[in-house]
Amino acid sequence: MRNIKAVSLMMLLACFAFVSQAAAMVCGEWNVLEKEIRDGATNRDSARKKIDELNRKLREVYGSETGRSGFHFPLRGYGPSSIGGRGGNGYRPRGYDFYDGNRHGGHPAQDIFIHDPTGKGVDSRTGKPVDVLAFEDGIVTAVNDSWASGDRIRGGIYVWTFNPGSNRYCYYAHLAKTLVAPGARVSAGSPIGVLGRTGKNAWLRRSPTHLHFMYLSHDNGAMRPVNPYTMLIRSAK
Ligand SMILES: [Zn+2]
Repeated sequence: MRNIKAVSLMMLLACFAFVSQAAAMVCGEWNVLEKEIRDGATNRDSARKKIDELNRKLREVYGSETGRSGFHFPLRGYGPSSIGGRGGNGYRPRGYDFYDGNRHGGHPAQDIFIHDPTGKGVDSRTGKPVDVLAFEDGIVTAVNDSWASGDRIRGGIYVWTFNPGSNRYCYYAHLAKTLVAPGARVSAGSPIGVLGRTGKNAWLRRSPTHLHFMYLSHDNGAMRPVNPYTMLIRSAK
């Protein structure tokens, strides 16, 4: 009996190890592909096929039932009044194509600003940095964890997550540092990074400190922007 239990435990552990290994591999591949697309180092058709293939793998490995616990506002201590523009009009999807990478047009995102009138990258009321929190449950599929002033990468230091439950990707940009690595699971509200001022334009003095938050829906290789505005409002209630 004890042997049977030991064998089942070993099988369970082996199975768990296999699943985590498969998960780490598929996120690792997504992470590499994201950099290739960003840097224009791959052609659009093959990138689209690969995104589609990895999306299938992610859903196989993690299951489409996971990640349905709702939304959380992505900046700790802040809420909808910090969203830029009026009524969410900072979201401009026209001209955006995920496969254009770093050269994409439009602004299919919401910018969320912190209190930092002097551009130090911290909340001026507390003198402390602001945590970036996961908007919804998911898996970290890509990060960019280094950036130097003047680099052309527009997102600077950033994190991508994927939620198999909603089949949507979140992109959090202009961080000071990341707190997660590809393959990590995140829950709505868990810290994934610290807000900063990284990115081709975000580091310039004229740019107020903000999180650039983009939400994309996957559909047969297409990565379609979704306006997260109403979800951001709901997430704060
Ligand atoms: Zn933005």
